[in-house]
Amino acid sequence: MRNKVLVVDDSSMWRNTLKVALEKAGFTVITAVDGIDALNKFFRFLPDVLVVDYLMPRMNAIQLTQLIRSYSSFKDVGILILTGTSEFVNQFWAKKSGANFFMKKDEDFKKLTENIIVFAENELFHGGWHRDIYKIHKEPFGELSDVLEEKLKIETTNREILSLLKSLEDEDRVVSQMSALIREFVNFNVILWLFISPVAGRIYSFPKIGNSSNELKKLLMGKLLNPLTPSKWHFKGISSKSKVVEFKNIFTFPLKTDGIENGIVLIEGVESKDSLENFIDYTLESMSLLAYTMNNFWEQRAASETDFLTSLPNRRAGIMKIKEMLSLYERTGIPFAVGILDIDDFKLVNDSYGHNVGDDVLREFGRIIWNDIRETDLACRYGGEEFLLVFPGTVIEEALEIVERLKRSFSNVDWKNLLGQNLQVTFSAGLATVRNGMGLYDIIEKADKALYKAKSSGKNCIKTEE
Ligand code: GH3
Ligand code: MG
Ligand code: MG
Repeated sequence: MRNKVLVVDDSSMWRNTLKVALEKAGFTVITAVDGIDALNKFFRFLPDVLVVDYLMPRMNAIQLTQLIRSYSSFKDVGILILTGTSEFVNQFWAKKSGANFFMKKDEDFKKLTENIIVFAENELFHGGWHRDIYKIHKEPFGELSDVLEEKLKIETTNREILSLLKSLEDEDRVVSQMSALIREFVNFNVILWLFISPVAGRIYSFPKIGNSSNELKKLLMGKLLNPLTPSKWHFKGISSKSKVVEFKNIFTFPLKTDGIENGIVLIEGVESKDSLENFIDYTLESMSLLAYTMNNFWEQRAASETDFLTSLPNRRAGIMKIKEMLSLYERTGIPFAVGILDIDDFKLVNDSYGHNVGDDVLREFGRIIWNDIRETDLACRYGGEEFLLVFPGTVIEEALEIVERLKRSFSNVDWKNLLGQNLQVTFSAGLATVRNGMGLYDIIEKADKALYKAKSSGKNCIKTEE
């Protein structure tokens, strides 16, 4: 089907001649006499293409274009601005307006209409993407002040969303504020957010719900076109003490930038579908940008906390974990244990087999540790051939069991098969547990002392320091 075209010009001569020419070429055409008339007709007629004179009373073409482009539903409407011979359009405005093309009216008329027809024929141009789009703006714009208010509302809301970029390090807070903002415009029961990047998938629910995290993951991932598989998942706002919600009456909106799915927002039990769609239409771009930046932040942080050789967390991540556990211990008395593992005579491995084999041994050691410890434990490469383990909520006996299990796994490695070398690699370990009044370096020092004991009593063993 031919595109629908809205022609806007305050000169009746131009309006009518363009209408006739376009209708002759098979388009459905309506006309408007100025910017406000154009806006009102735009929301009712939902054209695929807008041909608009630059200078008009009450609102010029750039102002009109900017307002239309504030709604993501209208991002694919083709907008052509016609400028008079002597009219000067600021280049910056022209570029930022969101118009697809500018044509000067001074060309010979036949040529101009031909070019306009070619423009209007573009099949990529189309109006709003959902059935109820006409409800986006139900009230007609009467005066310029109405348009101004709409524009201000759009800008203020978007500025509010983008201001959340300041608090990226506290994603919980960003998501809770974003949810509260939506609630100021639309009443709903539950809002779920999924953010997804290669290192981490995060799911948030507001308010807290009792559904299983797997169910929510399936529900949200099912809405993505190309879901990634993140290496870790985090869930917030899910508690078995809360009510289970049936996700029946839902709306979902993808958070996409440049074709990349950064996540999705799902809203359940919406009171007014129209208000929701209206709100989402002019905020989706900012929300998507927020999601994109949040994911980037995770990726960067993960990179800065990951050891390049073994892909384990690095020393910095280990130190932060101990700090976190120390403050938890001070507040709640929840204990934790720390272990330092050091490969025995590693210098010899390097000297006998070369540095590359040494690197492979470190990688393999990292892999075994990663597979053997519990999800809540943290292992990091502390330096060279030393690894630091943190066991939250664990007494030293349990930590000892875990490290002994690691020892067995490590002694079972078939190095011949893996590296083609008949290696014998063992490690020594020192364990320590937190005590009242200890600081970060006290606990590391205690584990280090235990390690020293293990080394001095013949290596290939584990010692504990109470
Ligand atoms: P000990 O049993 O007392 O721990 O002896 P060791 O040889 O393991 O300990 P030492 O501290 O004397 O030597 C550690 C060696 O680890 C020396 C260093 O070259 C090697 N090393 C440190 N980082 C890397 C690395 O990233 N790759 C390789 N291949 N070797 C490393
Ligand atoms: Mg060593
Ligand atoms: Mg060492």
